[in-house]
Amino acid sequence: MASLIGSDTQLNQKSYYEASVERPAATSALTESLNVDVVVVGAGFSGLSAALELAQRGLSVVVLEADRIGSGASGRNGGQTIVGFASGQGPFEDQLGEADAQRAWEMSLEAIDLIDARIAQHGIDCDRVHGYVYVADSARKRGALHEEMEGLQQRGIHVDWAEGADVPGLINSPRYVAAAREQRSGHLHPLKYALGLARAAQAAGVRIFEHSAVTSLQRGATLVARTAQGQVTARFAVLAGNCMLPEYGPAVAPEIAPRIMPVGTYIVGTAPLDPGLCARLIPRNAAVCDNNFVLDYFRFSADHRMLFGGRVSYTTRTPANLS
Ligand SMILES: Cc1cc2nc3c(=O)[nH]c(=O)nc-3n(C[C@H](O)[C@H](O)[C@H](O)COP(=O)(O)OP(=O)(O)OC[C@H]3O[C@@H](n4cnc5c(N)ncnc54)[C@H](O)[C@@H]3O)c2cc1C
Repeated sequence: MASLIGSDTQLNQKSYYEASVERPAATSALTESLNVDVVVVGAGFSGLSAALELAQRGLSVVVLEADRIGSGASGRNGGQTIVGFASGQGPFEDQLGEADAQRAWEMSLEAIDLIDARIAQHGIDCDRVHGYVYVADSARKRGALHEEMEGLQQRGIHVDWAEGADVPGLINSPRYVAAAREQRSGHLHPLKYALGLARAAQAAGVRIFEHSAVTSLQRGATLVARTAQGQVTARFAVLAGNCMLPEYGPAVAPEIAPRIMPVGTYIVGTAPLDPGLCARLIPRNAAVCDNNFVLDYFRFSADHRMLFGGRVSYTTRTPANLS
């Protein structure tokens, strides 16, 4: 596991996203003993979002981040903001019943609205684009896509459907037999959004400490989150560390540590392309995703690079030739 974390840190420092933002200087690491209402572990979307909401409700909040703000998945993902869930609604309905599955669906729409509200409210410049194209690359997958899109329509999302000769109107590639576009989903620059969220949280009074990994969390009437050089005593903790860095996971979140497994997924970025070519390939600059189990997902960045994600690995070894 150690090798994965080492190479992961290398990769997050050299990503396209990092190269396309100007970060403020790193905050100081925690070196003191603080007492607050809430300690948040992890400065990704989950931690920053929780910290902002809690501070806006008048609670004192400290965020402890092992690395840099947004250096985890939040600052280097596909940037695709999509309605619903990867599994579709079926498993939600099976496990929760129709009413609660519907609530979960509505939460997924609220999440998109919340992103747009925050972008507007806090002036977050993150290359936001609305528009999404779903594609199928075989006759079998076409059937599944059609069914999925009917579900979206029934839940009130307008979908433009295309197949055969009409596909190039949505995506100009011979690979796809069917495609569908809706305008509720879309994309953004995830690291710019994460840094914007951090600024908004700080403006609301949240103190963020980077390079401050939580090495243990003492439970009890009050909680004590310890780092190498300091500690935070709090009434509540929000564990937003995603997999909680495996070396500290058992001491911070023992309940979930045995259930964590490595899953790697990767995105490649091209050099900037001709803007005219981009407009011909994906009209209206939508984000695109196919409906295979291990899916391809891609979009153009604001500077006309193709950012293409796919494949998946379940080992702790970083693939060769990744830089
Ligand atoms: C390649 C890739 C592509 C993706 N594409 C998409 C997409 O297009 N659309 C989409 O919706 N989702 C996508 N996802 C998923 C999405 O990025 C994540 O679900 C989301 O970012 C998780 O946010 P988070 O805040 O929970 O975790 P993270 O962003 O991972 O943040 C967790 C933070 O906690 C910190 N941390 C961990 N342990 C500790 C500790 N002990 N002490 C202090 N700090 C700690 C980490 O350093 C990290 O910064 C993608 C993910 C990947 C990896």
